[in-house]
Amino acid sequence: MSGVSGVAIVGGGIIGLSIAWRLVREGVDVTVYDDGVDGAWHVAAGMLAPGGESAFETPALVGLLERSAELWPGFAAELGADVGYDETGTLSLAMTADDVAEASRVWDRRKLTRLRPSELRELESSLSPRVRAGALDLQERQVDPRRVVAALRARLRIVPRRITDLSELDGPVVVAAGCGTAALTGLPVRPVKGQVLRLHGEPGLLRHVLDATVDGREVYVVPRADGEVVVGATQEERTDRLVTAGAVHDLLRAAIDLLPALAEFELAETTVGHRPGTPDNAPLLGRLDDRVVVAAGHHRNGVLLAPVTADLVARLLLTGEADPLLAGFSPRRFR
Ligand SMILES: Cc1cc2nc3c(=O)[nH]c(=O)nc-3n(C[C@H](O)[C@H](O)[C@H](O)COP(=O)(O)OP(=O)(O)OC[C@H]3O[C@@H](n4cnc5c(N)ncnc54)[C@H](O)[C@@H]3O)c2cc1C
Repeated sequence: MSGVSGVAIVGGGIIGLSIAWRLVREGVDVTVYDDGVDGAWHVAAGMLAPGGESAFETPALVGLLERSAELWPGFAAELGADVGYDETGTLSLAMTADDVAEASRVWDRRKLTRLRPSELRELESSLSPRVRAGALDLQERQVDPRRVVAALRARLRIVPRRITDLSELDGPVVVAAGCGTAALTGLPVRPVKGQVLRLHGEPGLLRHVLDATVDGREVYVVPRADGEVVVGATQEERTDRLVTAGAVHDLLRAAIDLLPALAEFELAETTVGHRPGTPDNAPLLGRLDDRVVVAAGHHRNGVLLAPVTADLVARLLLTGEADPLLAGFSPRRFR
């Protein structure tokens, strides 16, 4: 499949579009097929957190996450639009003594300096006085996935069509259909439900992303420049799209406990998305057979992993050679 001139991509989410854009810039004729159902990108907060769970991930996946984090500044700049890429950093916070004990293990592993409450409030004056400790991670950044997808869609040819069988398409195909990848390929991509809230208020309440443990519950709060504040997220092994009272309650309670002023914000949106999970929580990247390449299963990190996925998959298609970074992510490991 090396030296391709035309490629069909199934899935116009953040992964399919990023690959398409890389290929178009190399002169490849690309058609993206998308069924118009909002993918996980529409819900995602857009935290770019390469170290987030590195205690639980393989060295190969950590390498991929870190490489993609390095690529994000250039990727955002090349898009030529304001996609909300922001390097202010993430404040990791803990509320109770138990929360501090739990969070300290992560701060130690990531070699972050522990900050006192007074130091935290110098960084974010609206934080609740109940926040006991925290640490600033400048490697953890954010971008607005909806803006990224809009910028990419404006530059690409998208055919609004659901593909039900890959035999509908001629020539080389990239399957980047998120949770839809399972039905097209038989690969084990499972939906992991996440509920997310979007609040709106005066811009400027918050500068950093907050990633907190509040009375044992994980919550993140992601501020955008226009006053939007994203609060997330549940992690549920469910396929439904219900917004539940319990999830909204828990997310709001934790967020308002952290930042009492959020109680005055408008609750503008409640959304549900499904992370494309795999049995080993690592993505599926590479050739499935002579014609089909898969780029799916990015689970909790698809926004972060978009630039590196685009580079590696485009290179595979253009040169026929698999970068060593792809080792360990072959979709054939589940065949
Ligand atoms: C609640 C939540 C929070 C998240 N937060 C973050 C975060 O902070 N940082 C981060 O890096 N990641 C985050 N993620 C993960 C990230 O959103 C996903 O990993 C990423 O969106 C996967 O991209 P994708 O393009 O593979 O799939 P998707 O974004 O799901 O897009 C797939 C696209 O393919 C289309 N499609 C599917 N099947 C077909 C078909 N048969 N024919 C045509 N089109 C089809 C869909 O309509 C969709 O447009 C989050 C996810 C969720 C749910």
